[in-house]
Amino acid sequence: MAKKWVYLYEEGSKDMKDLLGGKGANLAEMANIGLPVPPGFTITTEACIEYYKAGKQFPEGMWDQTLEALKVIEKRAGKTFGDPENPLLVSVRSGAKISMPGMMDTVLNVGLNDETVKGMIKLTNNPRFVYDAYRRLIQMFGKIVLGVDAEKFEAVIERRKEEKGVEADTELTAEDWKDIAEEFKAIIKRETGREFPQDPYEQLRLATRAVFESWNTERAVAYREYHHIPHDLGTAVNIVTMVFGNMGFDSGTGVAFTRDPATGEKRLFGDYLLNAQGEDVVAGIRTPRKIEEMKYELPQVYEEFVRICELLERHYRDVQDTEFTIERGKLWMLQTRTGKRTAQAAVKIAVDMVEEGLISKEEAVMRIDPAQMERLLHPSIHYRTQFVELDEVNQPLTPFIGPEEKFIVLSNGVLTTIPHQEWTNLTTDEEREKWLSKLNFIVMARGVDASPGAATGAVVLDSKRAKELADGGMKVILVRPETNPDDVPGMLASQGILTARGGKTSHAAVVARGVGKPCVVGCEAIKMDLEARRFYINEVEVKEGDIISIDGATGQVMPGVMPLIEPRMTPEMEKLLSYADEFRRLGVWTNADNPEDAKKARDFGAEGIGLCRTEHMFFGDVRRPLVQAMIMAETSEERKAYLDKLLPFQREDFEGIFRVMDGLPVIIRLIDPPMHEFLPPYEDLVKEVMELRYKGGDPEELAEKERMLGVVERMREINPMMGLRGCRTGVTFPEVSEMQVRAIFEAACNVAKEGVDVHPEIMIPLTSHVNELKAERERLEKVAKQVMEEKGIKVDYKFGTMIETPRAAIIADQLARYSDFFSFGTNDLTQMTFGFSRDDMEGKFLAPYLERGILEENPFATLDVEGVGELVEMGVKRGRSVKPELEIGICGEHGGDPKSIKFCHKVGLNYVSCSPPRVPIARLAAAQAALSTDR
Ligand code: ADP
Ligand code: MG
Ligand code: MG
Repeated sequence: MAKKWVYLYEEGSKDMKDLLGGKGANLAEMANIGLPVPPGFTITTEACIEYYKAGKQFPEGMWDQTLEALKVIEKRAGKTFGDPENPLLVSVRSGAKISMPGMMDTVLNVGLNDETVKGMIKLTNNPRFVYDAYRRLIQMFGKIVLGVDAEKFEAVIERRKEEKGVEADTELTAEDWKDIAEEFKAIIKRETGREFPQDPYEQLRLATRAVFESWNTERAVAYREYHHIPHDLGTAVNIVTMVFGNMGFDSGTGVAFTRDPATGEKRLFGDYLLNAQGEDVVAGIRTPRKIEEMKYELPQVYEEFVRICELLERHYRDVQDTEFTIERGKLWMLQTRTGKRTAQAAVKIAVDMVEEGLISKEEAVMRIDPAQMERLLHPSIHYRTQFVELDEVNQPLTPFIGPEEKFIVLSNGVLTTIPHQEWTNLTTDEEREKWLSKLNFIVMARGVDASPGAATGAVVLDSKRAKELADGGMKVILVRPETNPDDVPGMLASQGILTARGGKTSHAAVVARGVGKPCVVGCEAIKMDLEARRFYINEVEVKEGDIISIDGATGQVMPGVMPLIEPRMTPEMEKLLSYADEFRRLGVWTNADNPEDAKKARDFGAEGIGLCRTEHMFFGDVRRPLVQAMIMAETSEERKAYLDKLLPFQREDFEGIFRVMDGLPVIIRLIDPPMHEFLPPYEDLVKEVMELRYKGGDPEELAEKERMLGVVERMREINPMMGLRGCRTGVTFPEVSEMQVRAIFEAACNVAKEGVDVHPEIMIPLTSHVNELKAERERLEKVAKQVMEEKGIKVDYKFGTMIETPRAAIIADQLARYSDFFSFGTNDLTQMTFGFSRDDMEGKFLAPYLERGILEENPFATLDVEGVGELVEMGVKRGRSVKPELEIGICGEHGGDPKSIKFCHKVGLNYVSCSPPRVPIARLAAAQAALSTDR
């Protein structure tokens, strides 16, 4: 017996998407739960796959089964296919497992021919409707099945409307459509050399074949490539009894979401049109009406539709995106699927549905993609109609403001100037409002919304300059015709990126999304004049240095400063994350080096600092010379003297952080990078010394530079990454780490006396031999105890190490004897396990490795589970075998990556630590890890 290729609704269900496609599975489901769905059946995706395998032949038995199923639906519809008296008409609809909107084809009104048209007219008494339906069939058939250029048909309709002096299709009469149908047939004959097929079975067969073929059109293939949808899924074909929305003003058609997909609000959201068929709503032939208006136009149908939407939501337990048609007052459901939604809506809907009792908290947590959550954590533009003064908004921009002027920012638009004098004359709020009301909110241009978030800054037209200015503290927006890999440093340094060309997959768009920068691409209105360092947008000149704002969420480009709203948690996000907190077992800590970042992270829910780097505390105008002098010191005493001067700075930094983190642990890593990073580069020094020597410069300066050069020369390393850094620095220059520990404990004791609950944890980096750790810990713990004694107060503290060399992971049991905690530094651990230097790898060979499939992912972004992960797991096991209560976390960038977080959960870490903006993402990902692995 032949395989089963055809399924009636009662043989299908929503869980059969693989076989029946999304559309078919859901049509079956809706019919089976008693919703009004026109009779129909589905030819499987397997038939499509087989069709291609067999060299574009219907598989054996498929057509017979189709004709059999057609008999069944004829009976259900009470009509017969091809019967001139009472013809059954059907639609032939594509529908893959994964929805590919607009990519594949559908033919409506199959079964009409010169004979059945007459029968239909008798039955409906509505020749206009019948001829309209007939011409639609010929038109769609011509385009989709026979490949005739769609324009050819449209032109005929346009010409007819012009002749009759009418604007809307609905104004054309039965005679018009009858003539047009004939003209369409002639077009087909002329273009393809064959007649429009009059045999309904021939129409059905060719339309089915065309739907199979539409799986492999160029655009469908490209769409799948872009969305990583496999090419071997195939499409199903749904054959569905036609219902007609174009039978008069008690008929219509529409699409509606059960909730607002933009905001998540609980209200029907969609459009409909009376007296229209299928695609008219989407095609924009007439402006459709909001779905709420149906309440007044067709109250009973509306009520029924509301009831069905509620039922669908309860049944599917999610927002549905539906298509429906009303035929003479009777509502028919033609499609339903899970509704796509914005990130904001996704969170609101999940939380609301928990409160409505529709879904559980677990489901709500599992439904939000951490990447969606991330999108909600970008700054956005504050569009509103108040104003604020520039001084309060954006300091780095002031170089562009003349001294005589007062600058006003209209918060929803323009940066504008008013002479100081004039401003002071405007004394009342009313006067100011009046003056401001003359300014308009301006959108200069619109491009493609390529990467969300908003940015304001000075226009810069090349990447090199963008980087220079940004390094100097200015906020810049890089504007380019388009970008290429050379532009990356400038892109990274900019607030946002704007390009004149390119689409959502252009270089600029891909890079910007990758690094989370706001980006607008394909802004065609921009005319570049790079030589004159300016561009034009519709005659408006924008010079380098002018300030603009871009909104990557809408693609808008605006002149001047737009006030940005820093991302903050909405009540819905808070609620969702509070559900997540109920399920996760991993703690979420943060990497923060200063009180501001620590505060931000704590507001996002961080439960500790997993990595406070101390390096930056050695930079700055005051500190750096001290550090340099300290490094160049010749004796230990001399070195100590400079360190004593540095100590108060460090202490102050730590005090600020401890206060913010009141009650929570703070892990502070002792100095890690090689010392020569604090000195000028060797090459620069050589050049300067040469110049001073030959041009005869200041002898004192020369002596100083020569001394520095000597030190740098001595410190130069072949491979600094593997040189004198991490704990090796402390071993070699004990005064440095002793000063740091002293600063930490003085700070801790000081704030403890203020009543702050402090928990400092001292982290010794880059250990590879247990004796390094033993020596450092014993020496440094003495300092800690001494400080506490001096201060007369004891604070709770820990000493521990980073596990970031493979050897450390292997001897973790030995290290555990001298550690109260471990923290995996997976960046170095990845470098040393692979033997890749990260910068070199990402710059030179990551791309070919990914392209050729040698690596599936960048191991610096997502933890390499089989290699590096194995070391992590070993480290955890061996460490805990000696000390079961050992506190273990991860502080590499991987700590904010959802996939890596899942791994951290599995191997039983206590917490992950990530950058402040990723804290909410990590909370969600940790809950998902717990829910998905523990079940
Ligand atoms: P798409 O996947 O592009 O939405 P569909 O197969 O859903 O394609 O059909 C295109 C349009 O035709 C939709 O508006 C749909 O509602 C309408 N349509 C499809 N089948 C029928 C039918 N049997 N009766 C009336 N309208 C139909
Ligand atoms: Mg559809
Ligand atoms: Mg490291």
